[in-house]
Amino acid sequence: MVKETYLGVDVSPLTYEGIISELQQKMARNEQSTIIAVNPEKVITANRDSQVKSLINESTFQIPDGVGVLLASKLKGGRITSRVTGVDMMGKLLDFAALEGHPVYFYGAKEEVVTKAISEIQKDRPQLKVAGYTNGYEKDESALVQRIHESGAKMLFVALGSPKQELWIKRNLANLPNVLVFQGVGGSFDVFSGMVKRAPAFFRKFGLEWLYRLASNPSRIKRQMNLPIFLWRVLIGKK
Ligand code: UDP
Repeated sequence: MVKETYLGVDVSPLTYEGIISELQQKMARNEQSTIIAVNPEKVITANRDSQVKSLINESTFQIPDGVGVLLASKLKGGRITSRVTGVDMMGKLLDFAALEGHPVYFYGAKEEVVTKAISEIQKDRPQLKVAGYTNGYEKDESALVQRIHESGAKMLFVALGSPKQELWIKRNLANLPNVLVFQGVGGSFDVFSGMVKRAPAFFRKFGLEWLYRLASNPSRIKRQMNLPIFLWRVLIGKK
């Protein structure tokens, strides 16, 4: 798969379906895959922090989560045609796991959030096999890894925020050889639990979630300045 690169950060130009189909082939070969969401904020951080850059570039799939990455691809004549958001990717992976009978494990968020998220997820996918879950405030990492290993999980969703979740995945990938799909999902358990609301459909449809979030929480302005900075640097071709 040929990736697109923006300011030295790789992005997979695949849709949800393209990623699931590649994952299916990799799973059949017993290969592990990691999925990381890329947005302008992470690209700017990666340009300051080489560890973050390698965490992103070493992942199997870098999904174009932010509208900024989609715009950058359009500006540069790339092949990315739509966003692939972390939360929707997780939803599609859960559908796929339910259909194929792959057990899934949920790690992260507060106890009441992760349990509510699982019950909401199971309402829509009654045949989903839940191998287990652990809240994101567990201290004993080796006991947790052992528990996930013994659970028989084939997919693991890690919701600790970025880059904590990606660092956790990197540290523990080799100790979880039977887990074939790892996704760092940030605040997605909060969204599935219904405790955090997504932007209304109108904002989502037009790629304006950033505007909705800014209006509901103006202190995000500093983080959101990364979007124009990112686009400007891509446009002037700064590496
Ligand atoms: N979290 C956790 N353990 C920690 C820190 C954070 O489980 O030590 C959880 C937190 O409860 C929340 C999620 O990680 O559910 C972070 O979501 P956020 O929206 O901040 O992540 P982002 O998508 O911005 O990286």
